[in-house]
Amino acid sequence: MSVVICLFAKNGFDRAGQGVAGAGRRLADELGAKLQAIIIGAADAAMIDAVKTVADGVTIAAQSELSDYQSELYLSAAAQICQSLAPKAVLLSNDTYSQEIAARLAHRLGGSAAGDVTSIALHDGNVRARRSVYGGKAEAVIELKRSPAVLWIRARAFDPAPARESVADVNQAALTLGDARTRIVERKSEAITEARLEDAQIIISGGRGLGGPEPFEDLKALAALVGAQVAASRAACDSGWCPPTWQVGQTGKKVAPQLYLAIAIHGASQHLAGMSDSKIVAAINIDKDAPIFKHCKFGIVEDYRKVVPLLKEKLAAAQA
Ligand SMILES: Cc1cc2nc3c(=O)[nH]c(=O)nc-3n(C[C@H](O)[C@H](O)[C@H](O)COP(=O)(O)OP(=O)(O)OC[C@H]3O[C@@H](n4cnc5c(N)ncnc54)[C@H](O)[C@@H]3O)c2cc1C
Repeated sequence: MSVVICLFAKNGFDRAGQGVAGAGRRLADELGAKLQAIIIGAADAAMIDAVKTVADGVTIAAQSELSDYQSELYLSAAAQICQSLAPKAVLLSNDTYSQEIAARLAHRLGGSAAGDVTSIALHDGNVRARRSVYGGKAEAVIELKRSPAVLWIRARAFDPAPARESVADVNQAALTLGDARTRIVERKSEAITEARLEDAQIIISGGRGLGGPEPFEDLKALAALVGAQVAASRAACDSGWCPPTWQVGQTGKKVAPQLYLAIAIHGASQHLAGMSDSKIVAAINIDKDAPIFKHCKFGIVEDYRKVVPLLKEKLAAAQA
């Protein structure tokens, strides 16, 4: 029996992948099983070396057809390798591509699937997963009775697996992928200069109460002083004040920084769903009854136009 973690070479062994490995290691230890890693795409040596320190075996599918993500081919590669490993569970990251193939992989392997998982345990020999529902207001406990349990897991919900002396065998998979029924005609990449919000340690997030796009420039200046990244509520993104990639929440990014500073954000459940894993939440809001304050360690009831310049001044002075 094994537990498989499925990683994509394009992502490297990022924090999300490390969390997948951490979850996989805990489940494998509980089962007394081996932890097998699959890497799809041509991984570089640094990634392979890092994965080797956490897994018991590594299988790499590096054929040229897999150099760029193509859902059918990635699915076919993952399914073929999993069939040979007969896993109890297959764990994937929370990136869009992993989410796209997870349920299809479960179907192809005759298993069951769950997504956005925040905890995993064994119960009566089945994998039991937890995920938050209704915008974070409740938690669903899902028992996956058909093996393998294919799960994609929430970013940072699991600690990385402790690195060990690298002993894992590394195999190259020889796969027959066939023809894909769809073809990527064009890829348009957005030029993203900042680091991923999911990896940010400090996030300064703005809401509709900012009143327009200009105050986001102040938030950027404040963020620059503390090495933070700027994010936003859906209302601010939908208003066109900032790019949709900044959106945090149920239909946006799920973040888990050390500090999340919400400025002029009401604290709707759909927003909280994306940032409730933050270690410390602080807020600036003019309304003392704004729900965001119920989730805060620190709160300032004041107009942000008074507080943000003061914060900038104090932080700049502290750094001078
Ligand atoms: C299916 C679904 C999915 C959704 N997904 C998301 C999601 O992923 N992310 C998300 O964010 N939302 C999401 N929403 C929308 C969500 O319900 C809220 O509408 C949205 O989060 C509100 O954004 P806001 O807090 O910026 O705006 P508002 O609700 O308008 O709140 C603005 C806040 O700013 C404060 N304020 C006003 N002026 C000032 C000032 N001068 N100084 C300080 N404070 C001030 C106000 O007191 C208020 O609390 C979703 C909704 C649905 C139905």
